[in-house]
Amino acid sequence: MPSANTTFTIATLPGDGIGVEILPPTMALLDTLAAHFGSFSFKFDVRRDCGAAYYRECGEDCSKAAFECARAADAILLGAMGLPDVRLPSGTEIAPHLRMREEFGLYAGVRPVKAFPNTLRRLADPRAEKIDLVILRESTEGLFYTQGRGEVIGDSEARETLRITRPTTEKLCDTAFQIARRRKAKGGKGLVTCVDKANVFRAFAFFRKIFDERARLNPDITAAHNYVDAQALDLVRRPWDFDVLVMENMFGDILSDLGGGLVGGMGMAPCAELGDSHGLFQPAHGSAPDIAGCDLANPTATILSAAMMLDWLSVRSGHAALGDAAVMLEAAVDAAFTARQLRPKEFGGDQGLVAATAAVNTALETIMHARG
Ligand code: ATP
Repeated sequence: MPSANTTFTIATLPGDGIGVEILPPTMALLDTLAAHFGSFSFKFDVRRDCGAAYYRECGEDCSKAAFECARAADAILLGAMGLPDVRLPSGTEIAPHLRMREEFGLYAGVRPVKAFPNTLRRLADPRAEKIDLVILRESTEGLFYTQGRGEVIGDSEARETLRITRPTTEKLCDTAFQIARRRKAKGGKGLVTCVDKANVFRAFAFFRKIFDERARLNPDITAAHNYVDAQALDLVRRPWDFDVLVMENMFGDILSDLGGGLVGGMGMAPCAELGDSHGLFQPAHGSAPDIAGCDLANPTATILSAAMMLDWLSVRSGHAALGDAAVMLEAAVDAAFTARQLRPKEFGGDQGLVAATAAVNTALETIMHARG
């Protein structure tokens, strides 16, 4: 059982671009919740020694101290990493969070795609209001396994390697069924779709075989399959029919941007990267240098990622109040959109980052006041 007032250490990595702007107001919302509940608090260990700007200054992408701080913390909260003009000698972008995925075994990238009220509808069909699905992106292997291992041969050919392993795929599929089960308990469809390209590649036939094995162990949840190209089509044609979609790393990278676009833009796309012992929470978007420093960023994705962090900490620690806080923070976002108090510029509203976070804060204060 947790003690009366538990302090959770959060390794806080603002990173680059809009990540630096969005994290402070998100931390303030978390502190507001902590003050309201009184039974938990946060120690934010803010590390600026990680990311592309730090690499430009110091020649390393993340200090050892920052990396170890992330390892030791109860959870990791990350803004965004990378700047297009800051590159490693290989020509690739600075991405220490990819090393964290590998080092901390963060195989399960949980990326909810949810249509909140009064946000941008890119699909005219009225059912688009009901979009509520989760993309579960494997985050340590697949095609990204090859990062740093690829080769260019004699300036005439380049090769990368895709890797699928049984232990990770089993755990990933089990996570998909668990997420679907939790969602089903709250009225969800109880459906997991395996997204692959099993008709062409042996690696994906292997992925599908393992999915089918795990599906047989989870008979209370319906299992389905879709090829990734058909899934891209179906995410535009009938996204409201899906619940949990589980897939390889690169497929998840691409389809989760499509998902973000469906519900307004990348500023609406939260993400939790979960392993057996660590959790890293960050928006699915990048550092958006095109809008950094202009008070234009939509903070919703980061705020919803913080809500996922609260939920994860609650399950791990048994601290029920954290779960209530997670529900409250997401409810504040929902209420602010419903009342048209939250109107991000990202999709035609009149609010930049400062006004948008203030709107969520106001909705949160109202909910906290109403619930006593
Ligand atoms: P990465 O590869 O690092 O994920 P990316 O190339 O996908 O990055 P992003 O930084 O995610 O690029 O930005 C993609 C587009 O979405 C840009 O036009 C950017 O301005 C916009 N964008 C991303 N996040 C937000 C946000 N929170 N609010 C408003 N616009 C955003």
